[in-house]
Amino acid sequence: MALLEIKDLHATVEDDDGNPKPILKGISLTINPGEIHAVMGPNGAGKSTLSNVISGRPGYTVTGGTVTYDGQDLLEMEADERARAGIFLAFQYPVEIPGVATGTFLKTAINARRKANGEPEIEAVDFLKMMKANAKKLGVADSMLKRPVNVGFSGGEKKRAEVLQMAMLEPRLCVLDETDSGLDIDALRVVADGVNALRTPERGMLVITHYQRLLDYIVPDVVHVLADGRIVKSGDKSLALELEAKGYAEFTGAAA
Ligand code: ADP
Ligand code: MG
Ligand code: MG
Repeated sequence: MALLEIKDLHATVEDDDGNPKPILKGISLTINPGEIHAVMGPNGAGKSTLSNVISGRPGYTVTGGTVTYDGQDLLEMEADERARAGIFLAFQYPVEIPGVATGTFLKTAINARRKANGEPEIEAVDFLKMMKANAKKLGVADSMLKRPVNVGFSGGEKKRAEVLQMAMLEPRLCVLDETDSGLDIDALRVVADGVNALRTPERGMLVITHYQRLLDYIVPDVVHVLADGRIVKSGDKSLALELEAKGYAEFTGAAA
């Protein structure tokens, strides 16, 4: 069964005058377990809108099409239900939480998920074991786990913390919306190594990026070009290189 199946998805946002503005204009894509799909496209194409509609962020209206996640009608699910069902959206801008240690925050996040699913809290020993194993795998220093969430973290440390959070929540579907924007090459590698470490035969990933650079490290199975709310081309990883060389002009109607 497909992990995520999007068929002819149409969505609008409200513009400043309160009128619905069509953004997604018929998106179809299918992510099977184990696959990494990249979505690339010019600014304003609708990439963030797509990730927000998948995660159930308010402010968007689906006006057509279907989204099926693991056999369920995703569009019928509230945002928190989607998160509990294993959808993780990586934030472009990490939030600082002064006074809350990173490790404590992770434990709270795991227990919130467990509680909502009617499961008991994780045993302290099991949590520590899991956190240490993941931290080691992802190159997160023990000292970082004791520091308040993102406070004074470097760009690379914030990304490590985020990938650690993703690992700890054990998502089925990871959506990374331009997680690479503004990162230097070292931080980019942190994200890529972390994502690659989380690659399993069950898990699917949707990696949204404006630049090809990230895809040198996270090698996608399928690359889609999103322009003006539609997928205008899909291909294998070589499509990303082609886009890097030629730009998006041929898809936007702009002169090359
Ligand atoms: P991308 O992530 O590809 O750069 P977005 O999905 O952020 O594109 O935006 C697509 C279009 O939708 C843009 O024209 C943007 O201005 C518009 N848009 C997105 N969100 C909103 C919103 N909340 N209110 C008004 N317009 C929006
Ligand atoms: Mg944008
Ligand atoms: Mg965006």
